[in-house]
Amino acid sequence: MNTFGYAAYSTDSPLAPYTFERRELRPDDVALEILYCGVCHSDLHTARNDWGMSYYPIVPGHEIVGRVIETGTQVTGFKAGDYVAVGCMVDSCRECDQCRKGDEQLCRQGPIYTYSGHDRISGEPTQGGYAKHLVVSEAFCLHMPEGLDLAKAAPLLCAGITTYSPLRTWNVGSGSRVGVIGLGGLGHMAVKLAVGLGAEVTVLSRSADKRADALALGAARLLVSADEGAMAEAASSFDLIIDTVPAKHDLDPYLPLLDVDGTLVIVGQLGPMSDFSTVPLLSGRRRVAGSPIGGIRETQELLDFCAKKNILPDCEMIRMDQINEAFERMEKADVRYRFVIDMASLSAAAA
Ligand SMILES: [Zn+2]
Ligand SMILES: [Zn+2]
Repeated sequence: MNTFGYAAYSTDSPLAPYTFERRELRPDDVALEILYCGVCHSDLHTARNDWGMSYYPIVPGHEIVGRVIETGTQVTGFKAGDYVAVGCMVDSCRECDQCRKGDEQLCRQGPIYTYSGHDRISGEPTQGGYAKHLVVSEAFCLHMPEGLDLAKAAPLLCAGITTYSPLRTWNVGSGSRVGVIGLGGLGHMAVKLAVGLGAEVTVLSRSADKRADALALGAARLLVSADEGAMAEAASSFDLIIDTVPAKHDLDPYLPLLDVDGTLVIVGQLGPMSDFSTVPLLSGRRRVAGSPIGGIRETQELLDFCAKKNILPDCEMIRMDQINEAFERMEKADVRYRFVIDMASLSAAAA
């Protein structure tokens, strides 16, 4: 299938139009027309090959919402016209213990990523959602529940599941005391989802500048991390802290905030971190953990939960030809809180 989109052609060139092929439908594949695609920090890292996994040209985009246009001969779960979504993974080994229990993101062989991966069968490089069409196995395609705003839902597929999965892993519910460090694309979703699950949420920020934003998102309070007195008063008062800061940072100020058996979970891929003291870990049996996206079943659960609770990311809609400007603004954290590309703008931009 011939299609078109926007690709990075090298580490330092702006994204530009690109015409390419999607595979012919396998029996279990669905083909979709992409309607919306969120813009994630990983897209930018991949365009620039910050993680050393890129090939060129590469089409980023892994917060994909679309409509099914064709189905393979053995597809049972989808039909033409269905509204669907695809996130960060398009395949996995499907046989290991992790895949069998629905944690495909933890596949022993590693999941096949929507871009910067290689197809399990053909070995072809995968290409993401900044494009008109996508072909994906139905096992990695999600149903968009009725009533969920298609455009605004796109960021749930990465920013949403990345923060929802640790909330579920650590059993956040009514009465849980949750801290969220950082109030960007991931952080704002962590606040909304934790509040939706019934938690009492505190945003941790370097200054009080974001207090009104934090409260508007549903947080009970904002704690200024530079305020040593306030931080000391908040000692041992959190069950879970979700750390969404997108750059290397010091964990020492945050660990004493955890109650006994509390966990600080890092959701950004930050590479090596600075040293932190083990004293609060041992004295409170506290933990530092990491968590990547979530499995397919859990991602569907998230979409259904968001539809039921009417939880949606705050989005700024852009045209495809505004992507390079969006990358620049994202680097300066100048977005509230996620860019979403309206793919109806793509035909015009690529012509
Ligand atoms: Zn992402
Ligand atoms: Zn597996």
